[in-house]
Amino acid sequence: MELLPFGNLPAYKPRAFVPSDMKIERWETIAPVFDQLESCLDDCSSASDLEGWLLKVSEFGAILDEEGSRRYIAMTCHSSAQEAKEAYLDFIENIEPHLKEEFFVLARKFVDHPDKCNLPEDRYEILNRDWQSTVDLFREKNVPLETEESKLGQQYQEKMGALTVEFQGEEKTLVQMGVYLQETDRGLRKEAWRLVADKRLDVSEYCDSQFDRLKDIRIRIAKNAGYSDYRDFKHVAKGRFDYRPEDCFEFHKAVEEVVMPAYNQLLDERRVKLGVDSLRPWDTSVDPDGLDPLKPFTEVEDMVSKTKAIFDHVDSELADGFQTMRDQKLLDLANRKGKAPGGYQSSLPEARLPFIFMNAVGLQRDVETLLHEAGHAFHTLAAQEEDIHDYQHAPLEFCEVASMSMELVGNEYLGEFYSEEDCVRARRQHLEGIISLFPWIATVDAFQHWIYTNPEHTLEDRDNFWNELLDRFGGNIDWSGYELARTKMWHRQSHIFLVPFYYIEYGIAQLGALGVWNNSKSDRAKALADYKKALALGGSRPLPELFGAANIPFRFDTEAFKPLIELVQAELATLK
Ligand SMILES: [Zn+2]
Repeated sequence: MELLPFGNLPAYKPRAFVPSDMKIERWETIAPVFDQLESCLDDCSSASDLEGWLLKVSEFGAILDEEGSRRYIAMTCHSSAQEAKEAYLDFIENIEPHLKEEFFVLARKFVDHPDKCNLPEDRYEILNRDWQSTVDLFREKNVPLETEESKLGQQYQEKMGALTVEFQGEEKTLVQMGVYLQETDRGLRKEAWRLVADKRLDVSEYCDSQFDRLKDIRIRIAKNAGYSDYRDFKHVAKGRFDYRPEDCFEFHKAVEEVVMPAYNQLLDERRVKLGVDSLRPWDTSVDPDGLDPLKPFTEVEDMVSKTKAIFDHVDSELADGFQTMRDQKLLDLANRKGKAPGGYQSSLPEARLPFIFMNAVGLQRDVETLLHEAGHAFHTLAAQEEDIHDYQHAPLEFCEVASMSMELVGNEYLGEFYSEEDCVRARRQHLEGIISLFPWIATVDAFQHWIYTNPEHTLEDRDNFWNELLDRFGGNIDWSGYELARTKMWHRQSHIFLVPFYYIEYGIAQLGALGVWNNSKSDRAKALADYKKALALGGSRPLPELFGAANIPFRFDTEAFKPLIELVQAELATLK
């Protein structure tokens, strides 16, 4: 069975080091290439030798990455095909762990190479910085701790994923219960919400103690690496070289000062529309006008054509990129049986092409997802000329600028899908979603800063601090009678358990995307040209330069927030 939607995609550049017929199948055939790379490095005796060596490493890295991507794509497109699942698991279990080790061996040898300092500074400073940091942070004794950490995370995930409630005579997962929060019957929403809240409270002791175990391991990992606290360790480990914890605090402060008034205003408008005295936790997802969900399309092919039409309005080069993806079958978008859930953009680094996967069923969310993932795909296409594999991807803080900008700019042409009235609804939902996400990002981020810089805290301290944060960022929502559910609300935010400190990147990127959109309001052609110029840099430059190339500031304090939140508010005021 043909498992990949696209046919044979040729390499973007012919292989110059790895044999052209070499297939990535078993570790035994892969390992000798690493040995070869190691001895090549020993033979390098000048900066240009080293540059040539980096290209070899890049070529091999891209081939290996593409193999991993292909197996992942095949598995998600055919989730019931046993052979696809086995091939992917084989890669994850029997190949990938070796790759990590081998690339680390190469990085360690590279950073100590006597000719490294003769490499052109501009071109290689990012690569040097990143590889050096990986080498500096590595500790053999952290390997088993990291394994233990991911095991504990997995246990949490399993436990939470298995929770179900009995509702209207049927067993439902908590995810399935989400739809009832959109019901116009307030009593029904409340009942659904309470059931879920109570179910989560059943496992709150488990969550607290599981988190304490994770926290203890993380603190040990940081100490082993020579850091007095995990927060500082993690910032370096996540490659946050261009902003510091203090900048994150500026972000929190700006959200409090600038976003909270806008958020509370939106909540109040909702309260009035719903005709209730106070907004309760079960009142935040329902359509405030009592309308049914938007229906942008029924056929997926229709969604694709209309999205292409949106990009035709936005920028002809981007539209051509999207058309290339259509022509080369680099889109698998329709929901169907035997497909994994969710949506993602993946890249095929040897072909230097993007691939988009999603499960469209005819909702506005699908249109948003496609615009978003297309933005990621444009990033992959824009960086095609980059030969250093590490530079083909930007840091997350900028990757999401690429995608979120396309949501904002593309949404201006939703008329391709909707009547004027429905356009207003769709765009309002999107912009309101942006406003309401910032406070949650600030809450989750500030909470983790506190946890890891106050590691000796008691359970009570933690509960109190969380509640203080919700006082700052929770908005005017009335939780009376459900105080405990509020206190333990963070238990449902899996990032805190699984990927600590991951999240604020989206806030930083959202501001950047608002900046691109803002630029497009005064000169769209220039804004898009700058956007494409920045995308073409891939990950070859530090974040401030990537943002600079897109002509947006790399800062996230009150001054940066203010004009952008005002822009969103002004736009919302026109969407009535
Ligand atoms: Zn994204």
